[in-house]
Amino acid sequence: MKPTVSDIALPAGKALPVQKVVIVGGGSAGWMSAALLSKLLAAAGGPQPVAITLVESAQIGTVGVGEATIPAIKLFNQLCGIDEREFVQATGATFKLGIDFVNWGAVGERYFHAFGALGRQWEWLSFYQYWLRLCYDSPADQQPLPFEHYCIAGKMALAHKFMPADLTRPQSPVSEIAYAYHFDAALYAQFLRRHSEARGVRRIEGTISAVTRVPHNGHIHQLVLDDGRVIDGDLFIDCSGSRALLLGQTLEVGYDDWSHWLPNDSALAVPSETLGDLPPFTRSTAHPSGWQWRIPLQHRTGNGMVFSSGFCQSADASAQLLAALDSKPLAEPRLIRFTTGRRRQQWWGNCVAVGLASGFLEPLESTSLHLVQTAITRLVHLFPDLSFAKANIDHYNAQAATEMAQIRDFIIAHYKVTRRDDSEYWRYCRRMAVPDSLAQKLEIFAAYGRVHRVADELFREDSWVQVLLGQGLWPAQPDPLCRQKSLTETAGFAASTAAVIAACVDQMPSQQAFLAKLAAQPLR
Ligand SMILES: Cc1cc2nc3c(=O)[nH]c(=O)nc-3n(C[C@H](O)[C@H](O)[C@H](O)COP(=O)(O)OP(=O)(O)OC[C@H]3O[C@@H](n4cnc5c(N)ncnc54)[C@H](O)[C@@H]3O)c2cc1C
Repeated sequence: MKPTVSDIALPAGKALPVQKVVIVGGGSAGWMSAALLSKLLAAAGGPQPVAITLVESAQIGTVGVGEATIPAIKLFNQLCGIDEREFVQATGATFKLGIDFVNWGAVGERYFHAFGALGRQWEWLSFYQYWLRLCYDSPADQQPLPFEHYCIAGKMALAHKFMPADLTRPQSPVSEIAYAYHFDAALYAQFLRRHSEARGVRRIEGTISAVTRVPHNGHIHQLVLDDGRVIDGDLFIDCSGSRALLLGQTLEVGYDDWSHWLPNDSALAVPSETLGDLPPFTRSTAHPSGWQWRIPLQHRTGNGMVFSSGFCQSADASAQLLAALDSKPLAEPRLIRFTTGRRRQQWWGNCVAVGLASGFLEPLESTSLHLVQTAITRLVHLFPDLSFAKANIDHYNAQAATEMAQIRDFIIAHYKVTRRDDSEYWRYCRRMAVPDSLAQKLEIFAAYGRVHRVADELFREDSWVQVLLGQGLWPAQPDPLCRQKSLTETAGFAASTAAVIAACVDQMPSQQAFLAKLAAQPLR
């Protein structure tokens, strides 16, 4: 029977507001949380301003990686009130138009996963369906160009060019340029710290040695530092990194381990000299037991090897990494261990985990900082009062679980859909069972190249298409609707799309020239 309003237990009265927020950790997650909360909670006003304290330990330090992002980061910076030019200067940032995947589908192959739209929608179908039709039905000497040529960000990346979207030309592809950043993680945290402290965030340097709990409900009560100082709060945000000091160690919320789907558990990170010409994209090169990232910054290049210790010794991974660098290393490779998966609840009682404390998906699609961003914005939308209503917390946890599972599936697809069988590692990936949600997506795509995407899913149809085709999953045939157009019309449509994009990109400055011009502009 449907419940009536009187059956539903509603709170008796107005609960007291949260007044003290304590953030544990000063890595990217901690300072991103502090920056956004100090901006939004201050903006919300109210009779009682929310006091924000952040505790970080120099003794423990940060993970020190996390330098490639996706376009939504621009919104985060805007919400924090950050000026783009100031940010680019302060963090050594470069622009990112997508990811170049080398040796993923098969050794010797490459494909580009570009941000933004792929071609133009034409009546009832997305561009890629017509492109598929040209691949299947055109003679060998009239095959279409690779995808990058039909996508403004992809074409710019190939040419190492950059400009932001020009919204004054709404009919042109330049109005649709989507981009993100590469930046120095340590400099980003320092930059956000300056912004946060200017808005009143109190920073405490010290190492937490004990956490006390409220006896009657188990909530976090106080943090005790190793020098005896005590910090209390109403709401605690656990940004303590993979040790998950509050949610994991203290509240004992369990962890779902996903390493059977994503077997990498280690990374070696090494900086190298800056690249002469700054490519505006991340490069991901697959190796026999993992993959290597290259992230170009203005003042250095970030590199790393992500691998599975079950298939590769770290000494071998280190040798492969160093041998494949494009510039001289500036330090010894640093080993980082991780377990792919997530905390079963991201919010328990008066504690919310953000960043590595909430779980981790390997950095293949640069999604971790995005998950930090969505966690904090979700928390703001569901900001609690001191009743810590269960329905509110359940809603937060359900949204977070769905989001992470969707991103997980996208990352698994890169491993599952490959023709590589040159090592035990790739043979394992090809054979492994995948989540039902992904199996269904792959089956639907394999038939007519259709992408089954749930509303709000982070990765759009164009992302799935570029990755699945790039990895080598070609559908049996394109959507039959594309045959409503003649082959000649379709070829003309594709050719004109590529020509317009090429003409736009021809006029653009290189990323290097764009950065130089940006640096010369006065701050707003
Ligand atoms: C190999 C690798 C590559 C990655 N690449 C990317 C990428 O390209 N893009 C991306 O988006 N993400 C990436 N990530 C993820 C990204 O690095 C993290 O999501 C991000 O740095 C956030 O980390 P964090 O702040 O949660 O943890 P950390 O950086 O580990 O910070 C933890 C903080 O907690 C503090 N702390 C811990 N214990 C205590 C204590 N007892 N007392 C006081 N303070 C304490 C520490 O002092 C520190 O300040 C990568 C991760 C890895 C492992």
